[in-house]
Amino acid sequence: MNFEFTDEQNLFAESVRKFARAHLEKDALGRAHDPRFPFDVAKLMSRQGLMGITIAEVDGGQGGSLTDAVIAIEQIAEVCPRSADVVQFGSFGPIRTFAEYGTPAQKKKWLPKLLAGEMVMSLGMTEPDAGSAATDLKTSAKPDGSHYVINGTKVFSTFSPDAAIFLIYVRFGPGVGGIGSVIVERGTPGFTIGQPSSFMSGEEWCELHFDNCRVPSENVLLGPGGFKKQMSGFNVERIGNASRALAFGRYAFNRAREHAQVREQFGRPLCEFQGLQWKFADMAIKLESAQLLLYRAAANADRGFPSAYETAVAKAACNQIGFEVAHESVQAMGATGYSRAALVEYCMRRCRGWMIAGGSVEILKNRIAEHVFDRRFDQRNRQADAAE
Ligand SMILES: Cc1cc2nc3c(=O)[nH]c(=O)nc-3n(C[C@H](O)[C@H](O)[C@H](O)COP(=O)(O)OP(=O)(O)OC[C@H]3O[C@@H](n4cnc5c(N)ncnc54)[C@H](O)[C@@H]3O)c2cc1C
Repeated sequence: MNFEFTDEQNLFAESVRKFARAHLEKDALGRAHDPRFPFDVAKLMSRQGLMGITIAEVDGGQGGSLTDAVIAIEQIAEVCPRSADVVQFGSFGPIRTFAEYGTPAQKKKWLPKLLAGEMVMSLGMTEPDAGSAATDLKTSAKPDGSHYVINGTKVFSTFSPDAAIFLIYVRFGPGVGGIGSVIVERGTPGFTIGQPSSFMSGEEWCELHFDNCRVPSENVLLGPGGFKKQMSGFNVERIGNASRALAFGRYAFNRAREHAQVREQFGRPLCEFQGLQWKFADMAIKLESAQLLLYRAAANADRGFPSAYETAVAKAACNQIGFEVAHESVQAMGATGYSRAALVEYCMRRCRGWMIAGGSVEILKNRIAEHVFDRRFDQRNRQADAAE
Protein backbone atom coordinates (compact mmCIF):
# COMPACT_ATOMS: atom_id res chain seq x y z
CA MET A 1 0.00 0.00 0.00
CA ASN A 2 1.25 3.46 -0.88
CA PHE A 3 -0.35 6.72 0.25
CA GLU A 4 1.70 8.99 -2.02
CA PHE A 5 1.04 10.23 -5.55
CA THR A 6 3.42 8.88 -8.21
CA ASP A 7 6.01 11.27 -9.71
CA GLU A 8 3.83 11.48 -12.80
CA GLN A 9 0.76 12.42 -10.75
CA ASN A 10 2.76 15.06 -8.84
CA LEU A 11 3.97 16.56 -12.11
CA PHE A 12 0.43 16.55 -13.49
CA ALA A 13 -0.92 18.23 -10.33
CA GLU A 14 1.78 20.89 -10.55
CA SER A 15 1.08 21.62 -14.22
CA VAL A 16 -2.68 21.96 -13.56
CA ARG A 17 -1.99 24.23 -10.58
CA LYS A 18 0.24 26.47 -12.71
CA PHE A 19 -2.36 26.59 -15.49
CA ALA A 20 -5.10 27.49 -12.99
CA ARG A 21 -3.05 30.25 -11.38
CA ALA A 22 -2.10 31.72 -14.75
CA HIS A 23 -5.53 31.62 -16.37
CA LEU A 24 -8.31 31.17 -13.82
CA GLU A 25 -7.35 33.01 -10.63
CA LYS A 26 -8.20 36.51 -11.79
CA ASP A 27 -11.93 36.09 -12.46
CA ALA A 28 -12.65 33.33 -9.93
CA LEU A 29 -15.17 35.42 -7.96
CA GLY A 30 -17.11 36.66 -11.01
CA ARG A 31 -17.25 33.18 -12.49
CA ALA A 32 -18.72 31.74 -9.28
CA HIS A 33 -21.60 34.21 -9.42
CA ASP A 34 -22.28 33.74 -13.13
CA PRO A 35 -24.97 31.07 -13.60
CA ARG A 36 -24.02 30.24 -17.19
CA PHE A 37 -21.58 27.55 -18.28
CA PRO A 38 -18.07 29.05 -18.67
CA PHE A 39 -17.38 28.13 -22.31
CA ASP A 40 -14.25 30.33 -22.31
CA VAL A 41 -12.76 28.17 -19.54
CA ALA A 42 -13.82 24.98 -21.34
CA LYS A 43 -12.00 26.05 -24.51
CA LEU A 44 -8.90 26.99 -22.51
CA MET A 45 -8.97 23.66 -20.69
CA SER A 46 -9.39 21.81 -23.96
CA ARG A 47 -6.21 23.39 -25.30
CA GLN A 48 -4.47 22.46 -22.04
CA GLY A 49 -5.51 18.77 -22.35
CA LEU A 50 -7.91 18.97 -19.42
CA MET A 51 -11.07 17.92 -21.25
CA GLY A 52 -11.76 14.22 -21.63
CA ILE A 53 -9.12 13.17 -19.10
CA THR A 54 -10.94 9.87 -18.51
CA ILE A 55 -11.90 9.37 -22.17
CA ALA A 56 -9.89 7.07 -24.44
CA GLU A 57 -7.35 8.68 -26.78
CA VAL A 58 -8.94 6.93 -29.74
CA ASP A 59 -12.10 8.97 -28.96
CA GLY A 60 -10.17 12.24 -28.69
CA GLY A 61 -9.70 12.14 -24.91
CA GLN A 62 -6.54 12.03 -22.82
CA GLY A 63 -6.66 8.31 -21.93
CA GLY A 64 -6.00 9.12 -18.26
CA SER A 65 -7.29 7.52 -15.09
CA LEU A 66 -10.10 8.54 -12.77
CA THR A 67 -7.47 9.59 -10.21
CA ASP A 68 -5.93 11.98 -12.78
CA ALA A 69 -9.32 13.62 -13.22
CA VAL A 70 -9.78 13.85 -9.43
CA ILE A 71 -6.38 15.54 -9.20
CA ALA A 72 -7.43 18.02 -11.88
CA ILE A 73 -10.60 18.91 -9.95
CA GLU A 74 -8.61 19.41 -6.75
CA GLN A 75 -6.05 21.70 -8.36
CA ILE A 76 -8.54 23.75 -10.36
CA ALA A 77 -10.98 24.13 -7.45
CA GLU A 78 -8.28 25.43 -5.13
CA VAL A 79 -7.80 28.40 -7.49
CA CYS A 80 -11.24 28.82 -9.14
CA PRO A 81 -13.98 26.63 -7.62
CA ARG A 82 -16.49 27.28 -10.41
CA SER A 83 -14.04 26.11 -13.10
CA ALA A 84 -13.98 22.66 -11.46
CA ASP A 85 -17.43 22.22 -13.04
CA VAL A 86 -15.74 22.21 -16.42
CA VAL A 87 -13.53 19.29 -15.38
CA GLN A 88 -16.67 17.57 -14.12
CA PHE A 89 -18.38 18.13 -17.44
CA GLY A 90 -15.39 17.06 -19.56
CA SER A 91 -14.31 13.95 -17.65
CA PHE A 92 -17.01 12.72 -15.23
CA GLY A 93 -20.45 13.79 -16.46
CA PRO A 94 -22.77 12.20 -19.03
CA ILE A 95 -19.96 12.59 -21.57
CA ARG A 96 -18.19 9.62 -19.95
CA THR A 97 -21.21 7.30 -20.34
CA PHE A 98 -21.68 8.63 -23.85
CA ALA A 99 -18.05 7.92 -24.79
CA GLU A 100 -18.31 4.42 -23.33
CA TYR A 101 -21.52 3.32 -25.07
CA GLY A 102 -21.97 5.67 -28.02
CA THR A 103 -21.84 4.26 -31.56
CA PRO A 104 -18.88 5.35 -33.73
CA ALA A 105 -21.28 7.61 -35.69
CA GLN A 106 -22.67 9.24 -32.53
CA LYS A 107 -19.18 9.85 -31.16
CA LYS A 108 -17.96 11.26 -34.47
CA LYS A 109 -20.90 13.64 -34.57
CA TRP A 110 -20.72 15.08 -31.05
CA LEU A 111 -17.54 14.20 -29.14
CA PRO A 112 -15.13 16.56 -30.97
CA LYS A 113 -17.22 19.65 -30.15
CA LEU A 114 -17.86 18.50 -26.57
CA LEU A 115 -14.15 17.91 -26.00
CA ALA A 116 -13.23 21.22 -27.65
CA GLY A 117 -15.34 23.05 -25.04
CA GLU A 118 -17.63 24.37 -27.76
CA MET A 119 -20.69 22.40 -26.74
CA VAL A 120 -22.09 21.15 -23.45
CA MET A 121 -24.29 18.12 -22.74
CA SER A 122 -26.94 17.83 -20.04
CA LEU A 123 -28.33 14.72 -18.34
CA GLY A 124 -32.12 14.34 -18.08
CA MET A 125 -32.85 11.60 -15.59
CA THR A 126 -35.02 13.20 -12.87
CA GLU A 127 -38.73 13.77 -13.44
CA PRO A 128 -41.39 15.52 -11.38
CA ASP A 129 -42.52 12.14 -9.94
CA ALA A 130 -39.21 10.24 -10.20
CA GLY A 131 -36.40 11.68 -8.05
CA SER A 132 -34.64 9.21 -5.74
CA ALA A 133 -36.88 6.52 -7.25
CA ALA A 134 -35.25 7.03 -10.65
CA THR A 135 -36.69 3.80 -12.05
CA ASP A 136 -40.21 5.29 -11.72
CA LEU A 137 -39.43 7.50 -14.71
CA LYS A 138 -42.30 7.83 -17.17
CA THR A 139 -40.78 9.61 -20.17
CA SER A 140 -41.60 7.20 -22.98
CA ALA A 141 -39.88 6.31 -26.25
CA LYS A 142 -42.19 4.57 -28.72
CA PRO A 143 -40.90 3.21 -32.04
CA ASP A 144 -42.32 4.78 -35.19
CA GLY A 145 -40.59 3.67 -38.39
CA SER A 146 -37.02 4.91 -38.35
CA HIS A 147 -37.71 7.14 -35.31
CA TYR A 148 -38.69 7.04 -31.66
CA VAL A 149 -41.43 9.34 -30.38
CA ILE A 150 -40.57 10.83 -26.97
CA ASN A 151 -43.16 12.11 -24.48
CA GLY A 152 -42.53 13.31 -20.93
CA THR A 153 -40.91 15.94 -18.71
CA LYS A 154 -37.49 16.19 -17.06
CA VAL A 155 -36.49 18.54 -14.22
CA PHE A 156 -33.33 19.86 -12.48
CA SER A 157 -30.89 19.04 -15.30
CA THR A 158 -27.52 20.71 -14.75
CA PHE A 159 -26.25 22.85 -17.66
CA SER A 160 -29.69 22.62 -19.34
CA PRO A 161 -29.85 26.37 -20.16
CA ASP A 162 -26.62 26.06 -22.18
CA ALA A 163 -26.66 22.49 -23.46
CA ALA A 164 -26.83 21.72 -27.17
CA ILE A 165 -27.47 18.01 -26.61
CA PHE A 166 -29.26 16.09 -23.87
CA LEU A 167 -28.78 12.52 -22.70
CA ILE A 168 -32.34 11.58 -21.76
CA TYR A 169 -33.28 8.50 -19.75
CA VAL A 170 -36.41 7.04 -21.32
CA ARG A 171 -38.76 4.12 -20.97
CA PHE A 172 -38.96 1.83 -24.02
CA GLY A 173 -41.13 -0.63 -22.11
CA PRO A 174 -42.29 -1.61 -18.60
CA GLY A 175 -40.06 -2.23 -15.57
CA VAL A 176 -36.38 -1.54 -14.98
CA GLY A 177 -35.60 -3.65 -18.05
CA GLY A 178 -37.55 -1.19 -20.20
CA ILE A 179 -35.30 1.76 -19.37
CA GLY A 180 -32.64 3.08 -21.75
CA SER A 181 -31.49 6.43 -23.10
CA VAL A 182 -31.54 8.63 -26.18
CA ILE A 183 -29.64 11.72 -27.29
CA VAL A 184 -31.90 14.68 -28.12
CA GLU A 185 -30.60 17.81 -29.80
CA ARG A 186 -31.78 21.29 -28.82
CA GLY A 187 -34.15 22.52 -31.50
CA THR A 188 -35.65 19.10 -32.29
CA PRO A 189 -39.38 19.67 -33.04
CA GLY A 190 -41.50 18.69 -30.02
CA PHE A 191 -38.67 19.41 -27.55
CA THR A 192 -39.18 22.63 -25.58
CA ILE A 193 -36.91 24.03 -22.92
CA GLY A 194 -38.60 26.07 -20.17
CA GLN A 195 -37.45 29.29 -18.52
CA PRO A 196 -34.38 28.98 -16.25
CA SER A 197 -34.95 28.50 -12.50
CA SER A 198 -32.20 28.89 -9.91
CA PHE A 199 -30.84 26.52 -7.29
CA MET A 200 -29.56 27.89 -3.96
CA SER A 201 -26.08 27.69 -5.52
CA GLY A 202 -27.05 30.16 -8.25
CA GLU A 203 -26.81 27.45 -10.94
CA GLU A 204 -29.72 27.43 -13.35
CA TRP A 205 -31.80 24.60 -14.74
CA CYS A 206 -34.77 24.41 -17.10
CA GLU A 207 -37.72 22.05 -17.39
CA LEU A 208 -37.41 19.86 -20.48
CA HIS A 209 -40.68 18.98 -22.22
CA PHE A 210 -41.06 16.29 -24.86
CA ASP A 211 -44.33 16.42 -26.74
CA ASN A 212 -44.40 13.82 -29.54
CA CYS A 213 -40.73 14.64 -30.12
CA ARG A 214 -39.41 12.47 -32.98
CA VAL A 215 -35.81 11.35 -32.52
CA PRO A 216 -34.02 9.24 -35.15
CA SER A 217 -33.27 5.65 -34.07
CA GLU A 218 -29.56 6.28 -34.53
CA ASN A 219 -29.78 8.62 -31.49
CA VAL A 220 -30.50 5.72 -29.12
CA LEU A 221 -27.52 5.44 -26.75
CA LEU A 222 -28.66 2.43 -24.73
CA GLY A 223 -31.77 0.48 -25.66
CA PRO A 224 -34.04 -1.50 -23.32
CA GLY A 225 -31.95 -3.18 -20.61
CA GLY A 226 -29.47 -0.31 -20.57
CA PHE A 227 -30.27 0.98 -17.08
CA LYS A 228 -27.57 -1.02 -15.29
CA LYS A 229 -24.93 0.19 -17.73
CA GLN A 230 -26.15 3.76 -17.31
CA MET A 231 -25.84 3.50 -13.53
CA SER A 232 -22.30 2.09 -13.85
CA GLY A 233 -21.42 5.16 -15.92
CA PHE A 234 -23.25 7.34 -13.41
CA ASN A 235 -20.85 6.16 -10.68
CA VAL A 236 -18.14 8.13 -12.50
CA GLU A 237 -20.37 11.21 -12.27
CA ARG A 238 -20.70 10.52 -8.55
CA ILE A 239 -16.91 10.48 -8.12
CA GLY A 240 -16.78 13.90 -9.81
CA ASN A 241 -19.54 15.14 -7.51
CA ALA A 242 -17.64 13.79 -4.47
CA SER A 243 -14.35 15.32 -5.67
CA ARG A 244 -15.87 18.76 -6.03
CA ALA A 245 -17.62 18.54 -2.65
CA LEU A 246 -14.36 17.69 -0.95
CA ALA A 247 -12.32 20.20 -2.96
CA PHE A 248 -14.81 22.98 -2.17
CA GLY A 249 -14.71 22.04 1.53
CA ARG A 250 -10.91 22.19 1.37
CA TYR A 251 -11.00 25.52 -0.44
CA ALA A 252 -13.16 26.97 2.36
CA PHE A 253 -10.92 25.38 5.01
CA ASN A 254 -7.77 26.87 3.46
CA ARG A 255 -9.27 30.36 3.28
CA ALA A 256 -10.48 30.09 6.91
CA ARG A 257 -7.05 28.80 8.00
CA GLU A 258 -5.34 31.80 6.36
CA HIS A 259 -7.89 34.15 7.92
CA ALA A 260 -7.41 32.70 11.41
CA GLN A 261 -3.68 33.43 11.23
CA VAL A 262 -4.02 37.14 10.39
CA ARG A 263 -7.33 38.22 11.91
CA GLU A 264 -6.81 39.49 15.46
CA GLN A 265 -9.44 39.84 18.19
CA PHE A 266 -8.79 40.48 21.87
CA GLY A 267 -5.24 41.38 20.80
CA ARG A 268 -4.42 37.88 19.46
CA PRO A 269 -4.72 36.06 16.13
CA LEU A 270 -7.84 33.88 16.02
CA CYS A 271 -5.73 30.73 15.64
CA GLU A 272 -4.46 31.20 19.20
CA PHE A 273 -7.92 30.48 20.67
CA GLN A 274 -8.30 26.83 21.54
CA GLY A 275 -12.00 26.88 20.67
CA LEU A 276 -11.00 27.61 17.08
CA GLN A 277 -7.95 25.32 17.05
CA TRP A 278 -10.19 22.33 17.80
CA LYS A 279 -12.61 23.34 15.07
CA PHE A 280 -9.71 23.31 12.61
CA ALA A 281 -8.36 20.02 13.98
CA ASP A 282 -11.80 18.41 13.56
CA MET A 283 -12.06 19.78 10.04
CA ALA A 284 -8.59 18.43 9.17
CA ILE A 285 -9.50 14.94 10.46
CA LYS A 286 -12.69 14.94 8.40
CA LEU A 287 -11.04 16.18 5.21
CA GLU A 288 -8.20 13.66 5.44
CA SER A 289 -10.54 10.72 6.05
CA ALA A 290 -12.88 11.58 3.16
CA GLN A 291 -9.85 12.12 0.92
CA LEU A 292 -8.70 8.54 1.48
CA LEU A 293 -12.13 7.14 0.65
CA LEU A 294 -12.27 9.21 -2.51
CA TYR A 295 -8.80 8.13 -3.66
CA ARG A 296 -9.63 4.48 -2.94
CA ALA A 297 -12.73 4.56 -5.14
CA ALA A 298 -10.91 6.41 -7.93
CA ALA A 299 -7.65 4.43 -7.80
CA ASN A 300 -9.39 1.04 -7.76
CA ALA A 301 -11.38 2.07 -10.85
CA ASP A 302 -8.24 3.16 -12.73
CA ARG A 303 -9.48 3.64 -16.33
CA GLY A 304 -12.76 1.79 -15.84
CA PHE A 305 -15.94 2.45 -13.86
CA PRO A 306 -15.70 2.61 -10.05
CA SER A 307 -17.34 0.07 -7.74
CA ALA A 308 -20.86 1.03 -6.65
CA TYR A 309 -20.06 0.43 -2.97
CA GLU A 310 -16.77 2.32 -2.86
CA THR A 311 -18.40 5.17 -4.78
CA ALA A 312 -21.33 5.29 -2.35
CA VAL A 313 -19.01 5.40 0.67
CA ALA A 314 -16.78 8.06 -0.91
CA LYS A 315 -19.65 10.25 -2.11
CA ALA A 316 -21.57 10.10 1.19
CA ALA A 317 -18.40 10.99 3.13
CA CYS A 318 -17.25 13.76 0.77
CA ASN A 319 -20.73 15.30 0.49
CA GLN A 320 -21.26 15.45 4.25
CA ILE A 321 -17.73 16.46 5.13
CA GLY A 322 -17.42 18.98 2.31
CA PHE A 323 -20.56 20.72 3.54
CA GLU A 324 -19.69 20.50 7.26
CA VAL A 325 -16.21 21.91 6.68
CA ALA A 326 -17.42 24.73 4.42
CA HIS A 327 -20.11 25.55 6.98
CA GLU A 328 -17.60 25.64 9.87
CA SER A 329 -15.21 27.70 7.74
CA VAL A 330 -17.89 30.35 7.24
CA GLN A 331 -18.31 30.42 11.03
CA ALA A 332 -14.57 30.68 11.65
CA MET A 333 -14.36 33.67 9.30
CA GLY A 334 -17.34 35.50 10.80
CA ALA A 335 -19.06 38.04 8.55
CA THR A 336 -16.12 37.91 6.11
CA GLY A 337 -16.89 34.25 5.43
CA TYR A 338 -20.60 34.98 5.08
CA SER A 339 -19.93 37.73 2.54
CA ARG A 340 -20.32 37.21 -1.20
CA ALA A 341 -16.93 38.90 -1.64
CA ALA A 342 -15.30 35.68 -0.39
CA LEU A 343 -15.92 32.35 -2.08
CA VAL A 344 -16.35 30.48 1.19
CA GLU A 345 -20.12 31.02 1.37
CA TYR A 346 -20.33 29.98 -2.31
CA CYS A 347 -18.52 26.73 -1.52
CA MET A 348 -20.94 26.07 1.32
CA ARG A 349 -23.99 26.58 -0.93
CA ARG A 350 -22.56 24.37 -3.67
CA CYS A 351 -21.69 21.60 -1.21
CA ARG A 352 -25.25 21.66 0.14
CA GLY A 353 -26.61 20.78 -3.30
CA TRP A 354 -24.29 17.81 -3.77
CA MET A 355 -25.80 16.15 -0.70
CA ILE A 356 -28.99 15.91 -2.82
CA ALA A 357 -27.72 15.63 -6.40
CA GLY A 358 -26.50 12.45 -8.06
CA GLY A 359 -27.86 10.08 -5.40
CA SER A 360 -28.68 11.81 -2.10
CA VAL A 361 -26.72 10.98 1.04
CA GLU A 362 -29.71 8.95 2.28
CA ILE A 363 -29.95 6.88 -0.91
CA LEU A 364 -26.20 6.20 -0.74
CA LYS A 365 -26.56 5.12 2.88
CA ASN A 366 -29.31 2.70 1.80
CA ARG A 367 -26.78 1.22 -0.63
CA ILE A 368 -24.08 1.03 2.05
CA ALA A 369 -26.49 -0.63 4.51
CA GLU A 370 -27.18 -3.33 1.91
CA HIS A 371 -23.44 -4.01 1.83
CA VAL A 372 -23.25 -4.03 5.63
CA PHE A 373 -26.08 -6.58 5.99
CA ASP A 374 -25.32 -8.37 2.74
CA ARG A 375 -28.94 -8.31 1.64
CA ARG A 376 -31.16 -6.10 -0.47
CA PHE A 377 -33.70 -3.79 1.21
CA ASP A 378 -36.51 -3.05 -1.19
CA GLN A 379 -37.53 0.60 -0.74
CA ARG A 380 -40.86 0.12 -2.46
CA ASN A 381 -44.21 -0.25 -0.78
CA ARG A 382 -45.15 -3.62 -2.27
CA GLN A 383 -48.52 -3.76 -0.47
CA ALA A 384 -49.60 -0.47 -2.08
CA ASP A 385 -48.27 -1.63 -5.46
CA ALA A 386 -50.26 -4.89 -5.15
CA ALA A 387 -53.45 -3.02 -4.18
CA GLU A 388 -53.31 -0.85 -7.35
C1 LIG B 1 -27.57 20.73 -7.61
C2 LIG B 1 -28.38 19.68 -8.27
C3 LIG B 1 -28.06 19.24 -9.55
C4 LIG B 1 -28.84 18.27 -10.18
N1 LIG B 1 -28.52 17.89 -11.46
C5 LIG B 1 -29.30 16.97 -12.09
C6 LIG B 1 -29.03 16.59 -13.45
O1 LIG B 1 -28.08 17.08 -14.08
N2 LIG B 1 -29.87 15.71 -14.06
C7 LIG B 1 -30.93 15.15 -13.41
O2 LIG B 1 -31.61 14.33 -14.01
N3 LIG B 1 -31.20 15.47 -12.12
C8 LIG B 1 -30.43 16.37 -11.45
N4 LIG B 1 -30.69 16.72 -10.15
C9 LIG B 1 -31.83 16.11 -9.48
C10 LIG B 1 -31.40 15.03 -8.48
O3 LIG B 1 -30.97 13.87 -9.16
C11 LIG B 1 -32.56 14.77 -7.54
O4 LIG B 1 -32.80 15.95 -6.81
C12 LIG B 1 -32.31 13.60 -6.59
O5 LIG B 1 -32.33 12.37 -7.28
C13 LIG B 1 -33.34 13.55 -5.46
O6 LIG B 1 -34.62 13.57 -5.98
P1 LIG B 1 -35.70 14.63 -5.42
O7 LIG B 1 -35.08 15.96 -5.40
O8 LIG B 1 -36.93 14.44 -6.20
O9 LIG B 1 -35.93 14.23 -3.91
P2 LIG B 1 -36.86 13.03 -3.38
O10 LIG B 1 -36.54 11.78 -4.10
O11 LIG B 1 -38.27 13.47 -3.34
O12 LIG B 1 -36.33 12.87 -1.89
C14 LIG B 1 -36.60 13.82 -0.85
C15 LIG B 1 -35.83 13.42 0.40
O13 LIG B 1 -36.22 12.10 0.81
C16 LIG B 1 -35.08 11.26 0.87
N5 LIG B 1 -35.45 9.90 0.44
C17 LIG B 1 -36.13 9.54 -0.68
N6 LIG B 1 -36.25 8.21 -0.75
C18 LIG B 1 -35.64 7.71 0.36
C19 LIG B 1 -35.41 6.39 0.86
N7 LIG B 1 -35.83 5.30 0.21
N8 LIG B 1 -34.71 6.27 2.02
C20 LIG B 1 -34.27 7.36 2.69
N9 LIG B 1 -34.47 8.62 2.28
C21 LIG B 1 -35.14 8.79 1.11
C22 LIG B 1 -34.07 11.88 -0.07
O14 LIG B 1 -32.74 11.51 0.26
C23 LIG B 1 -34.32 13.36 0.14
O15 LIG B 1 -33.63 13.80 1.28
C24 LIG B 1 -29.94 17.69 -9.50
C25 LIG B 1 -30.25 18.11 -8.18
C26 LIG B 1 -29.49 19.09 -7.59
C27 LIG B 1 -29.82 19.51 -6.19
